[in-house]
Amino acid sequence: MTRTTVPAWLRAMVRDAKRADNPALHALTAGRLAGYRLHTVCDGARCPNKGSCYSHGTATFLILGNTCTRSCAFCAVDHGRPPAVDPEEPRRLAAAVAEMGLTHVVVTSVTRDDLPDGGAGQFAAVINELRKLPGRPRVEVLTPDFRGAPAALATVLAAGPEVFAHNVETVPRLYLAVRPGAEYRRSVNLLAQAARTAKPGTEIKTGIMLGLGEEEAEVMAVLEDVRAAGVTMITLGQYLAPTGRHYPVQRYVPPAEFAKWAEVGRQMGFKSVAAGPLVRSSYHAGEFYREIHV
Ligand code: SF4
Ligand code: SF4
Repeated sequence: MTRTTVPAWLRAMVRDAKRADNPALHALTAGRLAGYRLHTVCDGARCPNKGSCYSHGTATFLILGNTCTRSCAFCAVDHGRPPAVDPEEPRRLAAAVAEMGLTHVVVTSVTRDDLPDGGAGQFAAVINELRKLPGRPRVEVLTPDFRGAPAALATVLAAGPEVFAHNVETVPRLYLAVRPGAEYRRSVNLLAQAARTAKPGTEIKTGIMLGLGEEEAEVMAVLEDVRAAGVTMITLGQYLAPTGRHYPVQRYVPPAEFAKWAEVGRQMGFKSVAAGPLVRSSYHAGEFYREIHV
């Protein structure tokens, strides 16, 4: 087996996750999203869990268009010139959430380096629309780095999401190769600023992919950095190359190793650690939140 041959156990996991175990609900979810002209990162990033998540009536909303101003080597989202900000998008998203009956809503966006506020205002508008819903769903935002602009972060936090998330994605040594346009320290500082300034009780979350060529000591250093920054929830998942043109997978991490990282994370004081081959930042996000808020 070469280093990058997908192991049989992982192929089986991906096959199961891709399968729509409730085809009717899967179709209903897809139909609702299309009807409200909304994008999802499930689609945009070709997430392997889409069949499973849509079949449970959940999805992660991708706002501010589906074209990114950056071009990460691991990411399937289109890049180029994004469309103008759609002022109706927050209302449509809230209407879709009401129809889907979601109690925990995850909202992310492409990176919008073309906008003066990086799209922070649209995040706030979405949160504000969701707050008007009778069920008052919890809101988890997964934002870009806003190029480190404190004002943009403050705009998002002022709207009061229950979870503020920003993914560091990988270890600092690999940023230039897989995440050009981003800076590791800037991302950690954004998380630290969020932890310092968010309303009390806000969970601060990040995620990292394994299998990009990182060393164990480097992963440990990232966990220590983000924990010191005030991160309370973390996800670790296997990187899967969306296509043959994307950054090649360097290693498939066995489930036992993810279990070890989960234990390490808990011992370091993270309230929630989700670690596994198919774990993604938004993977079962509502359940992981509820687990620490019983
Ligand atoms: Fe979508 Fe997240 Fe589920 Fe993937 S894990 S399909 S991104 S909700
Ligand atoms: Fe994908 Fe985010 Fe990178 Fe854009 S900034 S290419 S959406 S990972």
